[in-house]
Amino acid sequence: MKAIYPGTFDPVTYGHIDVIKRAARIFKEVIVAVSSDSQKNILFTPSQRSKFIKDSIKGLKNVKVEIFSGLVVNYAIKKKIPVILRGLRMISDFEYEFQMALTNRKLNHSVETVFLMPNEAYSYLSSKLIKEAAYLGANLSGFVPPIVEKALKAKTKNK
Ligand code: ADP
Repeated sequence: MKAIYPGTFDPVTYGHIDVIKRAARIFKEVIVAVSSDSQKNILFTPSQRSKFIKDSIKGLKNVKVEIFSGLVVNYAIKKKIPVILRGLRMISDFEYEFQMALTNRKLNHSVETVFLMPNEAYSYLSSKLIKEAAYLGANLSGFVPPIVEKALKAKTKNK
């Protein structure tokens, strides 16, 4: 079975990668779908975000990275993928993810949302926090892949 893992990934963290690795062991193919039309405060372009993911998952043969826009369920149906994959970190993720899973189910009954929990070492990690820490000059090597760390340094210097 195939699964689609949608998100903003601005930027990808070791938390996302942990979820991708777990999914790659379960599903025949995993499509990491980078949203190009998020309303949030975005730091990197969709192609930069997808390049960071591709670079970080090179060894995983059954994982693909794509850019998409519009509703995730529509994209999943277009690609004939029956599973939407999301990561659950803490209880704080639950309410939003619960709402979204049920909304997506209402939009289309044939697509099921599946949740995976990362290693607890990554359960506090978020892209938002990483961006804030980058602006404050934190060492991010334990949180994001080297390519992301470098890009964050370049973006945040002189700011
Ligand atoms: P979105 O804007 O769609 O929430 P994100 O890129 O922030 O996109 O996250 C994509 C998915 O990955 C979400 O399901 C989110 O809960 C999950 N996720 C984000 N960070 C982590 C992490 N550290 N560990 C596990 N899952 C995570």
